[in-house]
Amino acid sequence: MDNERQLLEDADRRALAYFDGIPGRRVFPAPEAIAALAAFDSPLPETGRDPAEVLRQLDELGSPATTASNGGRYFGFVIGATLPAAAAAERLALAWDQCASSFDNSPAADRIEKVAARWVLESLGLPAQSAVGFGTSATACTLACLSAARRALLARKGWDFDSDGLMGAPEVRVVVSASVHITVKKALRILGFGTRRLLVAPTDAHGRIDPARLPPLDDMTLLCLQAGEVNTGEFDLFAELIPRARAANAWVHVDGAFGLWVRASSQAHLATGIEQADSWTCDGHKWLNTPYDGAMAICRDADALATAMNSDAAYASASRDAQKNLTLEFSRRARGVPIWAALASLGRDGLAAMIDRHLDQAGYLAERLREAGYQVLNRVVLNQVLVRADSDEETVAIRNAAQASGEVWFGPTLWQGRPAFRLSVSSWRTSDADIQQLADLLVRLKASGGR
Ligand SMILES: *Cc1c(COP(=O)(O)O)cnc(C)c1O
Repeated sequence: MDNERQLLEDADRRALAYFDGIPGRRVFPAPEAIAALAAFDSPLPETGRDPAEVLRQLDELGSPATTASNGGRYFGFVIGATLPAAAAAERLALAWDQCASSFDNSPAADRIEKVAARWVLESLGLPAQSAVGFGTSATACTLACLSAARRALLARKGWDFDSDGLMGAPEVRVVVSASVHITVKKALRILGFGTRRLLVAPTDAHGRIDPARLPPLDDMTLLCLQAGEVNTGEFDLFAELIPRARAANAWVHVDGAFGLWVRASSQAHLATGIEQADSWTCDGHKWLNTPYDGAMAICRDADALATAMNSDAAYASASRDAQKNLTLEFSRRARGVPIWAALASLGRDGLAAMIDRHLDQAGYLAERLREAGYQVLNRVVLNQVLVRADSDEETVAIRNAAQASGEVWFGPTLWQGRPAFRLSVSSWRTSDADIQQLADLLVRLKASGGR
């Protein structure tokens, strides 16, 4: 017991030292730190090692080879850092070690996640009766929502999907945007909707579905829209598209992994009409700045999600709204707890202020980069700045130089078939000084052609 306590104290000490070092560390680790990871590459030990020694190795070799995504100068993949309240809640929940499946497994987790669910709906302005499953990712939550959608569409035709499966079932047509996120395609693929059979809705110059070219919809159509295109940050035209889908009795799912949070900001109008959809996915671990493995499957028809995801057994029955009946997982961490803590510590105004600050910072970045001679390829309506230099070679050289500098990190992308880079502003830690540093570096690199 004493040893366990010492070990946990050592872990806390090391975690705090890591944490203190973030501002001074390279954003992407140095090649030597990455090379040193080879020391992990040993056979499974025949006999166990001292836990203190295990932790020491993890910290001494692992910590230096991490990316500083929990810092303020990481601009990749629209992922945030972790808010203090969320990190602290996660720490406590780890000590609780709850199997957060149902009330019987964990009264605390059950009640707190129910409040988190309500607050998520209130923050996002989505229908209050919706079910909210806290799953591992937008990918997993999309899978959950789309299975509910398919089951419900088939039930309307009198088809019992649970008993009869897919063989001989009426066809469900799936319409996706030409710029659909790869994970939505992945979820569809896993569900058995072959990629060749998807009906692709052409997009406009901003990456939004062009309403004039939307394929026909009917009562067996599953229409997948998106809130926050990964390159441009743009939104499908929900107010126009969703009423058309509703009139046709189609099911509308919205992938809002990061973009849904705009609903909590002063720019909520960007997603007007989104509340009329049938289901939505949203991540906590991106723009809400909660730890990884925290996402939401939200379904207007609570029963549709609860029946599709039901996993009641004779030895494990639970209420319809127990988390194990709303997510893919049977045993699960209380992943709604850090989400609750984030929302409790921010409040409505803090959440709005964080999102609004990122929008302002993205706008400022775009302005500085345009002045320096970069092409900013998107309208920067959200927190994404899509950038290109004069030639593909220069774009790639500047991106590589910025990544190698260790000062900042952002990722590559392709836009209309040519290289670009994407700056995502989504960390609560990103200060105006961090933005200044990123802009200064990119301006300098443009002047020197990436050298
Ligand atoms: C990140 C992202 C996803 C996938 O989210 P995960 O939580 O990583 O599975 C889906 N759609 C969009 C638009 C995203 O940005």
